[in-house]
Amino acid sequence: AHEGILRRQSARESAARTYARALPIVPVRARGLTIEGADGSRYLDCLSGAGTLALGHNHPVVLEAIRKVLDSGAPLHVLDLATPVKDAFITELFRTLPPGLADNARVQFCGPAGTDAVEAAFKLVRAATGRSGILAFSGAYHGMTAGALEASGGAYDVRVARLPYPQDYRCPFGVGGGHGAELAARWTETVLDDPKSGVRHPAGMILEPVQGEGGVIPAPDEWMRRMRRITADRSIPLIADEVQTGVGRTGSFWAVEHSGVTPDVMVLSKAIGGSLPLAVIVYRDDLDAWQPGAHAGTFRGNQLAMAAGMATLAYVRENRLAERAADLGTRMLNQLRGLAAEFDCIGDVRGRGLMIGVEVVEPEAEPLQERLAGLAGEGRVLADPDWRGGVTDLAVPGDSAGPGRPRGTGVEVGRLVGPDS
Ligand code: PMP
Repeated sequence: AHEGILRRQSARESAARTYARALPIVPVRARGLTIEGADGSRYLDCLSGAGTLALGHNHPVVLEAIRKVLDSGAPLHVLDLATPVKDAFITELFRTLPPGLADNARVQFCGPAGTDAVEAAFKLVRAATGRSGILAFSGAYHGMTAGALEASGGAYDVRVARLPYPQDYRCPFGVGGGHGAELAARWTETVLDDPKSGVRHPAGMILEPVQGEGGVIPAPDEWMRRMRRITADRSIPLIADEVQTGVGRTGSFWAVEHSGVTPDVMVLSKAIGGSLPLAVIVYRDDLDAWQPGAHAGTFRGNQLAMAAGMATLAYVRENRLAERAADLGTRMLNQLRGLAAEFDCIGDVRGRGLMIGVEVVEPEAEPLQERLAGLAGEGRVLADPDWRGGVTDLAVPGDSAGPGRPRGTGVEVGRLVGPDS
């Protein structure tokens, strides 16, 4: 069965896999960290559902919650109707929200994927502010549906300008540490205050507190607070994309809590569905610019996902799993840093909680020092005092969502548009 399934699937399924390599695994059972294949092989699952499985595979509390809904005879598809299952999910979600948002928030079910919620967040801040451009950061990853809204009539035409994201290992300014973060913040201020930049009055700024697909890059807390001040001073809604960082993974329930920043909009998906598809935005209620029908979606009332999600959120909260992730993460980072000191092929170890990245390099093929010197050169170009306000040239190293991933379909990424878009 194993070979036949693999053969038929590779003959008929498109090559547009999420991961570059085709894995010869046919999972038939899973529990916790372990997956069992049709051929009897056992694997430790390091994919973790792309950050979805906060409790691992098939955790008993998740299975029980799903079974309860199935056994109750409740409708599984309800569009936006009120249900007891949705009520329980919303109640639990609001218990977890960062202080400052919990008291005056609304939730919008989107979905089923994280990228749908990102689109919803863009539409919301555009409707709320009456402005159009979105500020995003180099190396960011927010999803794959960039063209969907434009293909639906072109009315949404979201323009995105990229700003440098602070990071040490590939510091866009070639300095690293707090200096790089400071320069990145100043760059953002300069762009926002320069009448020629074309993005003085954007509809919103979207950031990941820890970039995931960009290479597990935690943003310094001080930089996060700076982005909060910069956006608050200019009345720009701040959107935190916590699709990948949420539900305890980084050592706090939501990653924005490390810096104490309260965003205006949070984009949530992956683990909030307890391994089933669910995506929402949570936002300050005074931004609530939706009219009925302004943002529709067939599959956003998924009762099984809400039940699985509610069980997951409650379990993480009640068992203080965020604190556990913080403790285990510290131990793991220390161990990995020990390995990095020993092995040249480990270029960098970074992360927060259990969201950890190890950067594997080829020290002989491409000496690190040389590469860093090259990056410093690019950093100088970026910091060019003659810069005329074009974010167009923001070719920040690592500024791509990954090999083979299309960028900017229907959205002008890293390009400025007309004045004050
Ligand atoms: N935002 C972030 C931060 C993500 O990591 C991802 C997925 N990796 C998305 C959005 C998109 O989510 P989805 O794949 O469910 O559309």
